[in-house]
Amino acid sequence: MKKKLYIETYGCQMNVADSEVVASILSDEYVICTDEKEADVILVNTCAIRENAEQKVLKRIQELNVLYRKKQKKVKLGLIGCMAERFSTQLLKEDKVDIIAGPDAYRSLPILLDENEKDNVNTVLSTVETYDDIIPIRYASNGVAAFVSIMRGCNNFCSYCVVPYTRGRERSRDPKTIMHDIEILIEKAYKEITFLGQNVNSYIWENDYRFHHLMEDVARLNQNLRIRFATSHPKDLSDNLLKIMAAYPNICKSIHLPAQSGSNQVLQKMNRKYTREWYLERVDAIKKYMPEATISTDLIAGFCGETEEDHQATLSLMQTVAYDYAFMFKYSERSGTFAAKQLKDDVAEEVKTRRLEEIIAVQRNSSHKSNLADIGKTFEVLIEGHSKRSADFYFARNSQNKVIVFPKTKHTIGDYVNVKVESCTAATLFGKAVEEKTI
Ligand code: SF4
Repeated sequence: MKKKLYIETYGCQMNVADSEVVASILSDEYVICTDEKEADVILVNTCAIRENAEQKVLKRIQELNVLYRKKQKKVKLGLIGCMAERFSTQLLKEDKVDIIAGPDAYRSLPILLDENEKDNVNTVLSTVETYDDIIPIRYASNGVAAFVSIMRGCNNFCSYCVVPYTRGRERSRDPKTIMHDIEILIEKAYKEITFLGQNVNSYIWENDYRFHHLMEDVARLNQNLRIRFATSHPKDLSDNLLKIMAAYPNICKSIHLPAQSGSNQVLQKMNRKYTREWYLERVDAIKKYMPEATISTDLIAGFCGETEEDHQATLSLMQTVAYDYAFMFKYSERSGTFAAKQLKDDVAEEVKTRRLEEIIAVQRNSSHKSNLADIGKTFEVLIEGHSKRSADFYFARNSQNKVIVFPKTKHTIGDYVNVKVESCTAATLFGKAVEEKTI
């Protein structure tokens, strides 16, 4: 009989996709369980991008030790993912986990978990690993939308970011294996895929097959399959990609374009490799090719050396672009990065907090305006599930990646439906189904 495996995933969509790969790699000996109390092995898939994310995981590891591992020695506890390298010595020394595997070491998990093996840690980073032959087990999926990793790692070395150190150099996956994954998803009646990569639009295979080629090939595969992607780097947002996005109705009209700051001196310190002017030119290009597209972003408040003037430049960038939504954070230093070694984290905590609050206020206003402008419009939406607030409502998203909640009709999860927007908050559109239509 197979043993039971419980995977707890923290952080980004890449980690969700990685946990599906891990489930597949271990599937000869383990079956996924949804109750941690039943597990023989618990793996915690971790994120190192922010300090509070790491602290949360360390607390949880402590809790899992008390709950299961120290009482019932047969439960094995493993830490996998981005925190593996950074915490392997500490956690093994303190006997908090049984095994540790980094993001490129998942193929070694069956060995690391083997009772007879002495090795219990592998954090080696690879320059080639893409897990391209592994068919993920989509154990937590809604059966409608799936993530497909198309590349791993990052070469950009933004000065604040640990990803190039925790996930290694950029490498793209063979398009044939991507297509194979997608064909399986189509057979299983999935309706939406999201291409994932730390820097997804720098995807390149054999020197000339680029991200827009892949997008076009997948868009042609099945008109009924929606395609999204995350996360793109502004420097790699080509006109070719925008033209392909505009040309195919099943490529979703939303772009996440992390700006991080609106000030050139901060962008330079961040090593973002673009200027404010260049970024705004890319935003103009999006609006030119796809006026209906939504644009979202990531912003950091209080990066090293950020002045009041720099902060105002970020607020003015936000006003100019009018983002539809944004992920906003205070800068927190990550050890090992260029910023931690070479730049002074010199913006006072209360100043960071105040600047973040101002950024959030501008964004709330912008998101609300964007949603108010949708009232009266009809969107084709894909029903993804039941609304959390009421079992009488569906939760759906339109091509622009906006959440739309509407009263249930004869439709089911996985259907495309036309919904007319009647009201909104800053975060959600509310409407009612007006007719059925399939793209
Ligand atoms: S592009 Fe920059 S922020 Fe994004 S993963 Fe790479 S180094 Fe980190």
